[in-house]
Amino acid sequence: MGGIVIVGAGECGARAAFALREKGYDGKVTMIGAEPHLPYERPPLSKNGLKDAAPPKYVADAERYAAAGIDILTDAPVKAIDRNAKRVELVDGGSVPYDRLLLATGARARTLPGTEEASARVRTLRTHADAEVIRVELAPGRKLAVIGGGFIGLELAATARRLGADVVLIEGLPRILSRGVPMEIAAVVAERHRLEGVEIRCETKIVRLEADGRNARIVLEGGTVIEADLVVVGVGAVPNTELAQAAGLAIDNGIAVDVMLATSDPDIFAAGDCCSFPLCHYDGRRVRLEAWRNAQDQGALVAGNLLGANQSISSVPWFWSDQYDLTLQIAGLADGASSTVRRDLTNDAFILFHLDDTGRLLAASGIGPGNAVARDIRLAEMLIAAGKRPDPQALVSPQTKLKALLAA
Ligand SMILES: Cc1cc2nc3c(=O)[nH]c(=O)nc-3n(C[C@H](O)[C@H](O)[C@H](O)COP(=O)(O)OP(=O)(O)OC[C@H]3O[C@@H](n4cnc5c(N)ncnc54)[C@H](O)[C@@H]3O)c2cc1C
Repeated sequence: MGGIVIVGAGECGARAAFALREKGYDGKVTMIGAEPHLPYERPPLSKNGLKDAAPPKYVADAERYAAAGIDILTDAPVKAIDRNAKRVELVDGGSVPYDRLLLATGARARTLPGTEEASARVRTLRTHADAEVIRVELAPGRKLAVIGGGFIGLELAATARRLGADVVLIEGLPRILSRGVPMEIAAVVAERHRLEGVEIRCETKIVRLEADGRNARIVLEGGTVIEADLVVVGVGAVPNTELAQAAGLAIDNGIAVDVMLATSDPDIFAAGDCCSFPLCHYDGRRVRLEAWRNAQDQGALVAGNLLGANQSISSVPWFWSDQYDLTLQIAGLADGASSTVRRDLTNDAFILFHLDDTGRLLAASGIGPGNAVARDIRLAEMLIAAGKRPDPQALVSPQTKLKALLAA
């Protein structure tokens, strides 16, 4: 018997492995990862984790896996899935049989065409190994150019400023954070970066990227040249679907799974950044989320379903980002909203609530120092999950407790 095999030793794979044991499974659990490390947390890679040369922040240490009876193969990329023989084949020639298989292969950083063969001066940030290379350049007197005004690029810019490097950030669109973040919040983030000395250039087209062993040059439309010691490309991520696709599983902006995270093969499940799934609370719209808590939630849920629990995924999307002392949090999905109301919590913390044309709360986005918005975002998440249509005026007034709206 092959037991349960998990391909991908990341956040989701690790959570699923432990959850299998928590749910009482006593068969064989094998987790196989391409990286040389035990599963580790990625969020610190663009934040505090960049500050010191240190090992990754592991999800759990080797003793915990051993105590739970979880076998881990690291540095062991899987090459193929043989669905007939029910086994996965490793690049090193070995193979591992399975009764049920979980694909938790995550995503990889998207590259700019022509920069796939990463020069030492043009990098992406997805792994601990990437962070190790980037860290060296984040020092006074060094210049970092970030391409892309998304979360990872902006977090990296903030960390780089804290470490004394000069930073220029180039965004092709008219504003930063144009995907899923309201303009009002993006404006707060942009202003803070400017105050901290980051040069943000929006609506800027890159014509060419040149790099040699010593530095890199970004040639912009109009002829301006930006020189930097290091360029980090932060233009999103691509789901790792190749294994699934080659095995004939359905793909749709990720490995396509149903509400129970099952693929088109009933013995193979997929979860975390690599999969797209029907999102309950939003008419079953198919989405793929790249978010830490989603990887955790789906890991826990899929463990039960690998054991036959048949539970549907029902959590509300939630995401956070830390830049300087600001924390941004978003619960739900705001596209489809027809109105937005603002609740000011303090002088420097506020939440936007996004409602549809029936008054249903679809999403809440907040920003403020530290955990200023955390509690209300948590309650908003519960309001969204409950399908509530709260009175917009009550949402605006910080005197109204959101908890009371939940009970209403
Ligand atoms: C720099 C950075 C900062 C982030 N910050 C935040 C944040 O602030 N908030 C937030 O909500 N989210 C954040 N995220 C996103 C979050 O880290 C991811 O959503 C989460 O890691 C997804 O977990 P996962 O297990 O699905 O995939 P991954 O973490 O990508 O793990 C998948 C693993 O599978 C392995 N793998 C792939 N293919 C194979 C194969 N063929 N054989 C063997 N192994 C394979 C990969 O090497 C990888 O180790 C951040 C991500 C990054 C990169």
